[in-house]
Amino acid sequence: MLPLDPTPLARREVRELEGYNAGLSSEQVGKRFGVSKIAKLGSNENPYGPSPQVATAIASAITGCGLYPDASCGLLRDALAARLEVEPERLVFGNGSEDLIAILCRVFLDHGDTLVTITPAFGLHTLYPHSLGAHIHAVPMLDGGRFDIDGLLEALIEPPRMLMFSSPSNPVGSTLSANQLDRLLNELTPATLLVFDEAYYEYAQASPDYPDVMARLSQQQTPWIVLRTFSKAYALAGLRLGYGIVSSPALADLIDRLRTPFNVNRLAQVAALAALQDETHLNTGLEATISERERVTKVLKEMYLTVVPSQANFLFFRTDQASDALHEVLLTHGVIVKPWLETGYTHWVRVSIGSREQNDQFLTALTASMSPVVLARNHDTF
Ligand SMILES: *Cc1c(COP(=O)(O)O)cnc(C)c1O
Repeated sequence: MLPLDPTPLARREVRELEGYNAGLSSEQVGKRFGVSKIAKLGSNENPYGPSPQVATAIASAITGCGLYPDASCGLLRDALAARLEVEPERLVFGNGSEDLIAILCRVFLDHGDTLVTITPAFGLHTLYPHSLGAHIHAVPMLDGGRFDIDGLLEALIEPPRMLMFSSPSNPVGSTLSANQLDRLLNELTPATLLVFDEAYYEYAQASPDYPDVMARLSQQQTPWIVLRTFSKAYALAGLRLGYGIVSSPALADLIDRLRTPFNVNRLAQVAALAALQDETHLNTGLEATISERERVTKVLKEMYLTVVPSQANFLFFRTDQASDALHEVLLTHGVIVKPWLETGYTHWVRVSIGSREQNDQFLTALTASMSPVVLARNHDTF
């Protein structure tokens, strides 16, 4: 007997939801296309891996795995608080920052509430709000990947419950300027929670004109949270650890009410602490990624592709064909990218900056995949 379909039992918002597109794993691609060398450039992972200190820290913590982790992430909390010069009570931790995004939505968004965000955007910035029946007002970016501050200010006239976006933007890579941030902060009222997703902070802060977001927010009276993660620059994506810096301990307390008590596992806590202390390893990775980012940007421009200047560890570029079709061809060369599927951006691709070798594999595969029209046009310039 076939089991009955449980779908009608699910909430309407869940029935309507499209699942998050997490992309293919290297193993899946290798098996499906019979390629052995895979350049996994679809999830903005760090090609250099974590600090060697992380392995040591995990090895010595392994024997403690029979015990629940510290629910308050005490040691990491104190170390981060000192590093960031904030009170320890103003930090919150999640099983990745996506866990915090989900918790924030559950705490603050009710049926019919409005979330203002930007499009194109990180999928989870709309997926969780949608699942709760929130109304999503997405302000499109302007040409060249610029933030539409006037559009955002207009969207704030009727104060939404939440304003959530990332800067550097995922997928675009562009950032909000100090002046733009100030204009936005000026308009916010206490009725709106600002969720500033700074997952790529470490890459952007290396640039002299990236604003000190935390410093500016600290002057702000309305509620806010800045989200950061150990997944990208610290290369701990597989262990899942994100954190937030909040405007007041009262906000941390609200978040605590809906998080699962042991949401950050023991190994992630010790790994993050070790990674945080190895600044040399962090900086070496940042420098290599930034220099590769500039090199790949230059090559894409030489191929006459439109590419947005990026402050993160990925590039967003426009191609002359549907991005999912291009992706299928790149896969046959063992290259995984992220074809953008949001309306209006279906010719755009996000590619992570990998090691030099991975980037070369991507560039070679891309050249081989481009349509004859574009290749002919470019040929003149070589
Ligand atoms: C990668 C990413 C995250 C998720 O990070 P985790 O800490 O791994 O959950 C959050 N926001 C944005 C914009 C990201 O790109």
